[in-house]
Amino acid sequence: MPMRKILAAAAIAAATLAAHAQTSVPNGPNGDNDSIASLRTYEQMVAALKSSVHTSGGAMRYDVLPWKSNGGREIPYVVVGKGATTALIIAQQHGDEMETSDSAVNLARTLSNNSMASTAIRNALTVIIVPRVNVDGFDGRKADGTLITDSQGRVPPWRQNYDKTFSGAGPVPAFYQRGRGYDINRYHAFRPECPLDNPNFPNITTGVVSCENQDLDSTKPYGLADLGKGNPVPEAKNIRWLADKYKPAVTLDLHHQGTRVNDGKMVTASTLWPTADATAQRLLAVDPKAMTRFNAGQAMAKRVVVIIAQTLAQYPYANLSLYPGGTEPGISRNAYGLLGSGSVLLELRGGIGTKSGGYIQKIGYHASYAVLHELARDAGLNGFDPNQAAVLVKPANGLPPNSGQGESEAITAGTVPEGDSDEHDDHHLGN
Ligand SMILES: [Zn+2]
Repeated sequence: MPMRKILAAAAIAAATLAAHAQTSVPNGPNGDNDSIASLRTYEQMVAALKSSVHTSGGAMRYDVLPWKSNGGREIPYVVVGKGATTALIIAQQHGDEMETSDSAVNLARTLSNNSMASTAIRNALTVIIVPRVNVDGFDGRKADGTLITDSQGRVPPWRQNYDKTFSGAGPVPAFYQRGRGYDINRYHAFRPECPLDNPNFPNITTGVVSCENQDLDSTKPYGLADLGKGNPVPEAKNIRWLADKYKPAVTLDLHHQGTRVNDGKMVTASTLWPTADATAQRLLAVDPKAMTRFNAGQAMAKRVVVIIAQTLAQYPYANLSLYPGGTEPGISRNAYGLLGSGSVLLELRGGIGTKSGGYIQKIGYHASYAVLHELARDAGLNGFDPNQAAVLVKPANGLPPNSGQGESEAITAGTVPEGDSDEHDDHHLGN
């Protein structure tokens, strides 16, 4: 069975299980987040966020992002606190990585309670949380209420967003699954003056210095030529919009790979800081401050990684390693690092639909909370030595992070000649 089918089957089983069992979530540090069911539908997620806002006594605010999903749904976020330093936490860019969304919803709820710890965080920080970036890739629905389908008739959850524009034969956009949509996490614009840039046009090397700035409307018909006008991925534009509005000191991107469906308790966590050094170097041609900005973001990210390592050392089932991530600048970890934020990937691996689903949620929650706790104490995280990141976190297989572009296809004019066919497993695995 292809990996994707196994994942899809497991995800459906997990969703069904959760719906019946109302799986509860392990206690957080304040023991108050154990009553929220996991694997929420879109409506349940929105209701959970609004309920938390309602009980927060004004500590949390609900809002929706400027661009709707192509399926026509609003993408919610919450803002907690009024502090001078901002942290941005995003989850579930990939629709089939659902436990991370629960981590984010539970974190929002804890941050808005009246404990001393949460109050201290709210006084020092403004925390922006987007618990489900990719709403369509999780449970997108048609107007008649049935689940969306790809061109093979398969239904979500799946990795990509929903944009079936290029379902026919011929070239497809870079990082695009034919008949389904884009990998959101390759489309984050990374130049300060180009918020609507398509980071893969004309390709991920020369695209570094190009700047496309039309607001491409992907809910309307558009073609390959339009890829040279602007960013075709509304979900990526949303996160960039938040980054511009709030200038986060720290950006945390939560991912989950459910590749080990029979894991039982074991969860493996991976993390990585921005690795787009070569892009920062190229950007110097058009932006003299690019390298300084990137280095600052990378150093901050490494301080965050040290906090994550120290926190997860308390959880023996979270066996932390360095994620072998690529250097593509459109990956959120790299893009927001290039914009100067301490931008960190936290990737959690373990079986979904098993007990480890709860562990995954818990790990994401505790790691995120610890980062916010320390950032509230010291906005510079000066007590954490960035040089310790590579000491504390080692590659699982002894290999360093991917030094290439992590991409086997040549990209020309923002497209690949044939792209993923519906029959092939997605090779853009991981973050
Ligand atoms: Zn992912």
